Amino acid sequence: MNRNGVLSIESKNIFTILKQWLYTKQDIVFRELISNALDAIEKLTQLRNTDESIAWAEGKVLVRLEPESKKLIISDNGIGMDIEEVDKYINQIAFSGATEFINQHNQAGKDTIIGHFGVGFYSAFMLSDHVAIETKSYKKNSTAVRWNCMSDMSFSMCDCDRTEVGTDVILYLDENNLYLKKPDLIYESIKKYFIFSKTAIYFEAPGYDHVLVNNPYPLWRQPKESINPTDMNTFYREFFDDVCDPLFWIQFEIIDIGVRGILFFRDTKNGTEEIDGKIKVYNRGVYVGDNIREIIPKFVNLQSGIIECDYLPLVVSRSTIREDKQNDDMCELIYECLSQEVTIALNDMFQKRREAYEAHWPNLNAFVKYGVLQDKIFASVMMRKVVFKDIYGRYQTIQEYLDADNSHSNTVYYASDEIDQAHYIEIFKKCGLNALLFDHVIDQPFMRRYEVVHPNIKFIRIDSNIKSLFDGCLEENDKPKADMLAEKIRKALGDRLGTMELKVTRLEHDSISTLIINDEISRRMVDMLEIYGFINPTDFSAKEKQAKRTFLVNMNNEIVRFILESAHESVINTIVNQLFDLSLMSQQSLRPEDVEQFIIRSEAILASYIHNQ
Ligand code: ADP
Repeated sequence: MNRNGVLSIESKNIFTILKQWLYTKQDIVFRELISNALDAIEKLTQLRNTDESIAWAEGKVLVRLEPESKKLIISDNGIGMDIEEVDKYINQIAFSGATEFINQHNQAGKDTIIGHFGVGFYSAFMLSDHVAIETKSYKKNSTAVRWNCMSDMSFSMCDCDRTEVGTDVILYLDENNLYLKKPDLIYESIKKYFIFSKTAIYFEAPGYDHVLVNNPYPLWRQPKESINPTDMNTFYREFFDDVCDPLFWIQFEIIDIGVRGILFFRDTKNGTEEIDGKIKVYNRGVYVGDNIREIIPKFVNLQSGIIECDYLPLVVSRSTIREDKQNDDMCELIYECLSQEVTIALNDMFQKRREAYEAHWPNLNAFVKYGVLQDKIFASVMMRKVVFKDIYGRYQTIQEYLDADNSHSNTVYYASDEIDQAHYIEIFKKCGLNALLFDHVIDQPFMRRYEVVHPNIKFIRIDSNIKSLFDGCLEENDKPKADMLAEKIRKALGDRLGTMELKVTRLEHDSISTLIINDEISRRMVDMLEIYGFINPTDFSAKEKQAKRTFLVNMNNEIVRFILESAHESVINTIVNQLFDLSLMSQQSLRPEDVEQFIIRSEAILASYIHNQ
């Protein structure tokens, strides 16, 4: 039977448009034609399940590049088509599908089209002006058919002598076609899209001798018990191109919604890796994209992994997902399930393997806190499992910290910088107190969220509002002495005291002479102003104006007592200013212009020390 014709078309430039894409997204052709081949195999497999008379054959796709004849052939042993089906599926359905697709997206511009599935069979014309199909249906006594089509849209159909069931799609390539000289590009494209295809895909080309491209039994699809960790580490390093092994991984399968995969927790210690990991999404073994935000929670995206979905529609793109309600629900389900899987795994580790949890914490720190800030499901369980190092080097949750010492009365003392606040940390240690280290950038937003969720808990930085901690108090009869001391200090400091409040007290720990204490709220305000660029970090006078600070003087301290008892004005002057500078230094807030005076004074003190020897 012979038939010739011309495909009727309104938008006459369909092939021109298809060809333009060639320069932006060449590998669409392989994705589309091989997907069709795999579908055809799948259909035949399903038919076999109900009809035993259909001969069994292992499904197989072969992509063959023949440079001499300039042909690229995609063969499958799937369901095949008879002439009526070619007419219906290729001349009518596939063609109108492609036309509709072009019409719909033509206005939207090329960029929005990239990444869309559904270009379909006619994407073959992106690579070639001449495409043929040779196919034989699985149906008994059906005759093989050859369909031949040129890019001027004229086609012919005739019987052919093909004997095996299945389909060859033949692309006659132009002699300048890049793929003729670079079969590697074809190999890489097939690998990119079909690496985890369950059906074998072979490639034949110069340099490729019937090479199996895909890996139908990847390690992560195997049962957990049978996996050798060393093999998994190697798989991870090769697949994600990482120099480090993963810290650990979570392998999961959510049968109800047909989602399975693996999530590798990355070793971020050397800090050279990108912030985002790479999560590769596959739909029934076909690559869909990386880091698709509709289905992967943002925080999960900090890790790397593979997610395989059975029911993600092939027509999937970032924009179409949102348009289609059913897709939307599916995506939401997958999103929630991923959050749940990660939550369960980390909670489990916290509960059952606390040591491992703490050992991994330096790498998990930002991930868990970001997850708590970003994801409701994760936050509902993991907020209470966030641990902090305390000033003694132990890990504690906030609740554990509060439980350990009732005197804190729902106050969490924290240090935001171990070096800057070393002086206060030492004081805390001397007094047998504890504080947690909040030294990661994410700790501030985390703390604010914690305060919102637990309004009864207060966070106070180790150098702020800590007066009460030292239960300093003055007896009634101390008052005249305290006033006199305050007077001497004020006189010695002059206007250096500025807006700072002066407070004389008796602290239990007599080794503490003076301390500068910030007001937590106004200090946070200054930090914010600095972050948003309203205050320059080196503008000390602007910061001083904003901050509310107290200069605390401990009457129980030997040096302070000396000031009180001495009548020697210049000595008092030296000591008070020296103590004041030391307190400012322990806060990193000694003004640069005061540094010189500090050095001169320090040297004078040393000189007098030497003279007294
Ligand atoms: P889609 O695959 O989205 O349905 P296509 O334009 O790619 O759209 O293909 C149209 C139809 O042509 C397919 O649905 C299928 O019925 C038929 N077809 C395409 N390729 C093959 C093939 N290799 N074997 C059997 N049928 C095919």
